[in-house]
Amino acid sequence: MRVAMCTTEAVPFAKTGGLADVAGALPLALKKVGVECFVTMPFYNSIFKKEHKFEKIKSKLNVSMNENNEEFFDVLVSEIGGINFYFIKKDDFFDRNYLYGTPKGDYRDNGKRFSFFSKAILEVLEELDLSVDTIHLNDYHCGLIPVYLREIKKNNLPNKDFFRNTSTVFTIHNLAYQGIFSKEILDYNGLGDKYFNIRGLEFYGKINFMKGGILFSDKITTVSPSYSKEILTPEYGHDLDGVLRSRQKDLSGIVNGIDYVLWDPEKDSKIVKNYSLNNLTGKKECKDYLINKYFNKEYIDNPLIGVISRLSEQKGIDLIIESMKDILGKGYLLIILGTGEEKYHIMLKKLKKENIGRLSVHILYDDGLARRIYSGSDLFLMPSKYEPCGLGQLISLRYGTVPAVRDTGGLSDTINNIGSEDDIEAGGTGIKFKKYTPKDLLKSLDTALEFYNNGRLWNKIIKNGMDKDFSWKNSAREYKKLYSS
Ligand code: ADP
Repeated sequence: MRVAMCTTEAVPFAKTGGLADVAGALPLALKKVGVECFVTMPFYNSIFKKEHKFEKIKSKLNVSMNENNEEFFDVLVSEIGGINFYFIKKDDFFDRNYLYGTPKGDYRDNGKRFSFFSKAILEVLEELDLSVDTIHLNDYHCGLIPVYLREIKKNNLPNKDFFRNTSTVFTIHNLAYQGIFSKEILDYNGLGDKYFNIRGLEFYGKINFMKGGILFSDKITTVSPSYSKEILTPEYGHDLDGVLRSRQKDLSGIVNGIDYVLWDPEKDSKIVKNYSLNNLTGKKECKDYLINKYFNKEYIDNPLIGVISRLSEQKGIDLIIESMKDILGKGYLLIILGTGEEKYHIMLKKLKKENIGRLSVHILYDDGLARRIYSGSDLFLMPSKYEPCGLGQLISLRYGTVPAVRDTGGLSDTINNIGSEDDIEAGGTGIKFKKYTPKDLLKSLDTALEFYNNGRLWNKIIKNGMDKDFSWKNSAREYKKLYSS
């Protein structure tokens, strides 16, 4: 079985969020369960690090986007752990400082960029003779691929035979980012007015790429079972719940894993001291390091909360900001690492100035610091408004840092709640709260504090979490089953 994984980001090449972790790790995990997989993604000239080596294998391929417009591109390849990554190099679209847009907003030509990307992928598969059983599409950027495939089959195009046995799986990592563009994009991408209707790509007078992925792929998945149900409701459906309900029988949820080699407190070279389930002494050193460097030393024994997140409304940053005074008032220390919306940058920097010694804020993207926070914190706070899967809580479990999360989506599926000692004995791994309110969040932190003050119980919670297996093994098996179906 052979699968093409199509994505706009993948570790170790380019990452803005969880999609990159998935696209980097899942192919390797699939390989281990007997699925041959390669990745196709854009070539981001200015983002890629010098250490990565690429080989150009095709020059000046072209796709005709419409009758009057041909786009030219090159194809490069790089191999990591036996997985080939094929890169579509078209610098006027992808050689930029950011993947999707600047902090001020999305790039205005994203509709063109990702129409081209979708069409170019099909060209690459054919040109390199990479026939596959399944094309696995991720998020709206690949949403037009099943639409182009449909066109090829319907219009009896010469490449029809090449794709005869190719199925498509479309994975929604975050339904909020749908790729909505004005109707004119249909002129550029050649799909034309026939898709401007309710059974096509039309969406409130505009064009919606994610809708294309949902309507025209063979199977649809989301990254956790709970989220796959939530998105069928108006509350979580981002106006696509009706479209999703029309495909309900082909929709399922497969929870993400994390790469247990890349995320391993026993081997992680970027943390202060390594530790393991059986010997946690290093974790204390990791915490001491953070306190000595970023906090007032007199708080060395206070519980430390870490937050590593995109700074966006989805992640519950408003809730954290609203609750800040009370969180710190309870004796917690808080370290926040993230980038995102400018309004949060401003608010958090202000709060930092007002709470020196107890609040540490880092507005940047920094993998090393993230690892030092995962390893050195006592708790990891993730109060998301909605959460398709979430990786932060899984990494925290692996690093023995107790997640305090809102009970939604993937957070519901991956954390076993502890409300009592019995829950801890039964394997509880974190604290969940239901309502998106400061009151509920603070109550959950009260519960955490009770357990934190009882060393034996706290250790048991840590060990319960570290004992869990959220590696990709199980999820890869589930994807294999889905591809086979
Ligand atoms: P998202 O919705 O952003 O994809 P996830 O929890 O699924 O959220 O994944 C986020 C990933 O990005 C995690 O691996 C997390 O550690 C990482 N991350 C987020 N912000 C930062 C940052 N500022 N610096 C380093 N890593 C970050």
